[in-house]
Amino acid sequence: MKEKPYKLGIMGGTFNPIHQGHLVAAEIIRDEFGLDEVLFVPSGKPPHKDNNEIAAPKHRWIMTVLATASNEYFSVSAIEIERKGESYTRDTLLELKKIYGEKTQFYFITGADAIAEISTWHKSENLPKLAKFIAASRPGYKLEWEKIDPRFRNFTYLIEIPALAISSTEIRKRVRENKTIKYLLPQAVEKYIYKNKLYQKGVGS
Ligand code: NAP
Repeated sequence: MKEKPYKLGIMGGTFNPIHQGHLVAAEIIRDEFGLDEVLFVPSGKPPHKDNNEIAAPKHRWIMTVLATASNEYFSVSAIEIERKGESYTRDTLLELKKIYGEKTQFYFITGADAIAEISTWHKSENLPKLAKFIAASRPGYKLEWEKIDPRFRNFTYLIEIPALAISSTEIRKRVRENKTIKYLLPQAVEKYIYKNKLYQKGVGS
């Protein structure tokens, strides 16, 4: 009998900070795509980004661990945090292939607006050989197929996640303005943000 391939979801993002929208998205996609595991990979130095408002990688990694600890299917990798230089998805997928083996099927999950730019990513022509891509969009953001480079359409799935109405940008703004962030993210992450004075002046330390 043919062995079923291991299906690995790779949840890529800055997670600045991780919130309930990310967790709901990962869980719904795990369920719908029959994934065996969802590995969260916080980016070290996100490409295409002004790093001014981004909390230190160590903080974003710890918050991701705190947020995912209670889900038996979720795990967290520090590979992008530990790698020097920009966090290119291609390098991450190649590294994970070595760890998980050639037979593992990879599903790279991230925000729809990031996927809309996929053709500009580092060595993007290699990406469809390495993984399928799942673009999670928030209500109000309509990701049309026309926005996706035709070369990637056969390898990309679009899914709307209502819980992604929550956004990291909004959470950071609320912290700066001394507004409540309760229930927008797990309580342990909320406490971690205050304990470490993250996002208070618009700068992650
Ligand atoms: P981003 O600009 O921070 O996020 C784009 C949008 O997607 C935001 O609305 C964001 O919402 C949402 N989002 C981010 N990660 C998500 C996730 N896992 N699930 C659902 N929504 C998500 O994007 P980014 O974090 O820099 O990049 C996303 C991923 O693409 C990262 O893994 C990054 O390394 C990769 N990427 C690779 C390249 C490359 O290889 N050259 C270039 C660009 C991006 P929130 O702000 O609420 O999270």
